Amino acid sequence: MITLRTYRGRFAPSPTGPLHFGSLVTALASYLEAKSCEGQWFIRIEDLDPLREPPEATGEILHSLETHGLFPDAPVLFQSRRHEAYHSAIENLSGTGRAYRCSCSRKQLQANHGRHPLHCRDASTTSSDQPFAIRFALTDEECHWQDQLLGPQHQTVRAEIDDPVILRKEGFFAYQLAVVVDDIEQGITDVVRGSDLLDMTAQQLQIYRALGATPPHWLHIPVIVNDQGQKLSKQNHAPALDNHTPVKNLFAALTALNQQPPQTLLSGSVAGLLEWGCSHWNRGAVHLTSR
Ligand code: GLU
Repeated sequence: MITLRTYRGRFAPSPTGPLHFGSLVTALASYLEAKSCEGQWFIRIEDLDPLREPPEATGEILHSLETHGLFPDAPVLFQSRRHEAYHSAIENLSGTGRAYRCSCSRKQLQANHGRHPLHCRDASTTSSDQPFAIRFALTDEECHWQDQLLGPQHQTVRAEIDDPVILRKEGFFAYQLAVVVDDIEQGITDVVRGSDLLDMTAQQLQIYRALGATPPHWLHIPVIVNDQGQKLSKQNHAPALDNHTPVKNLFAALTALNQQPPQTLLSGSVAGLLEWGCSHWNRGAVHLTSR
């Protein structure tokens, strides 16, 4: 038999706090998708912004993933160690006219309906003694793409108005750039992530193309919400996972993904539960609830 493509998936948390139930659900979905396709699965820590990341969070996340039996097929990649790659991607984009300096404040942009009062896209006018961000220059597009779970997607991309920051004024590289550069570097073929990131996808597609790379397939799963309908996150005080009850947590995560695990798994092991999850994984069963 000829294998047409090797699936390479990943879980890419930002270490703004310990792993909570919502992120376990995303991690598990990406893991089971990869493993049920006989693919490889990786972990990438998206530690781009030290000001928002308590130093202990990365260790806590990795420990939780381990406790829940989610072991990656290669050493963990840390974005904090990838600055050179982001830097050269920006040079590349600047060289082809797809990145530009922008010293506009958020206020100025708002007042101008997203248009840049300093005409930043015409590079020459932005003086470099002002603090500046670097933005990716989008092209106007009615973008159509196919989500592996949600089906056909349509997003309107507006040049200038939506141009994402790729290097922040504070000197930190931004998510929109780093996620694409690293998914390319790691040869990721399939991205499974929360549907809170759905709207980012059309812009990311343009960044892939601008870097001359083939975009992955995307599958967005509904985000887990609390009783008030808010996404579970550190900002909403989502509790950290209890690492003493991994079987119970994984069972609850499979249930949240509507995989209908049998109760007997609850008295089994982490490995047994993941094995069942792998052989019974049914992406089509994942609820298509609103995000
Ligand atoms: N680091 C992002 C987050 O934690 C996820 C990135 C992605 O999966 O594309 O929200």
